[in-house]
Amino acid sequence: MPFLSLPGSPRPLGGSNLHAFPIAYGCWRFAGTDVQAARAKIDAALECGINLFDHADIYGDGEAESLFGRVLAEAPSLRERMLIATKGGIVIGVPYDSSPEHIEAACEASLRRLGVETIDLYQIHRPDFLGHPARVAETLARLRERGRIREVGVSNYSPSQFAALQAHLPFPIATRQPEMSCWRTAPLRDGTLDQCMQYGQTPLAWSPMGGGLLGLGPTGAAVHPHRARLIPLLQLLERLAGEQGVSRGAVALAWLLAHPAGIIPIIGTQRVERIRESVSALGVELTRFRWNEILQTAEGRRLP
Ligand code: NAP
Repeated sequence: MPFLSLPGSPRPLGGSNLHAFPIAYGCWRFAGTDVQAARAKIDAALECGINLFDHADIYGDGEAESLFGRVLAEAPSLRERMLIATKGGIVIGVPYDSSPEHIEAACEASLRRLGVETIDLYQIHRPDFLGHPARVAETLARLRERGRIREVGVSNYSPSQFAALQAHLPFPIATRQPEMSCWRTAPLRDGTLDQCMQYGQTPLAWSPMGGGLLGLGPTGAAVHPHRARLIPLLQLLERLAGEQGVSRGAVALAWLLAHPAGIIPIIGTQRVERIRESVSALGVELTRFRWNEILQTAEGRRLP
């Protein structure tokens, strides 16, 4: 049986002229004040070819963007080698605000913390039920016209929320950002990936290692509430990884990379060696049978 093809080189984000490596680096867990340690992670990613860095204004209450900005201030030439994505629209305790006043202020604050002139990809973090899509679209279009952002994405949007916003925007949304891994498979069936393939957005998958769940050892897995599904999945990933001399994480990432929508997993590890190791996912050999076996094991039921 032939192997599923995995992407090998950078490709456009949606219909834009921004080109991203098939794996991105997420900065949610990027924290602290150690600029050298932060630089080592960014360098490791760039050396592997990873060029898209995903932030949000709320990561570490602004600390993640600030730390990243300090690295860029010390090494400004790094900026030319990367695409910076960030998000706005969550206010802790509110919790959502996509009003023009808030999004404009949030975008300016992110630009200041990152110390850059333009954000390459600005994403609405979560849909705001009180934000009319026409107003959200006007705000995003204004930020783009002013050169504060280059492209727009949405995160945690349902297909109909996406369609409502897109209908009011004078340019195509470049990316979607759902939670997705071989443990969280909802985007396969909730219309997100189908819509990405219909209209040409690039899906960016958050928590591709299930937020660490897919890295659990036997003791951790044994006490998980869904251990009856989780343990066989971890055993299968481990077996396939052993057969190919890669890590379990590489197989989990390859499962996402093999989907025809061109999913870019956003890895969140804070360990330099795991950043480097992640790119071995691009060489994993998965047949159609194995891909479906992972899905069926994760979901605990056979496909009909
Ligand atoms: P993840 O890669 O699924 O999880 C990272 C966690 O898993 C880290 O704690 C890491 O620990 C651990 N881990 C990774 N590989 C492992 C392995 N082989 N064995 C054991 N543990 C392993 O991703 P995430 O950090 O949850 O999310 C990634 C990015 O997605 C975020 O940085 C952010 O950019 C984005 N995100 C977006 C949203 C949204 O609403 N849009 C929400 C959440 C996240 P170590 O550091 O020790 O390796």
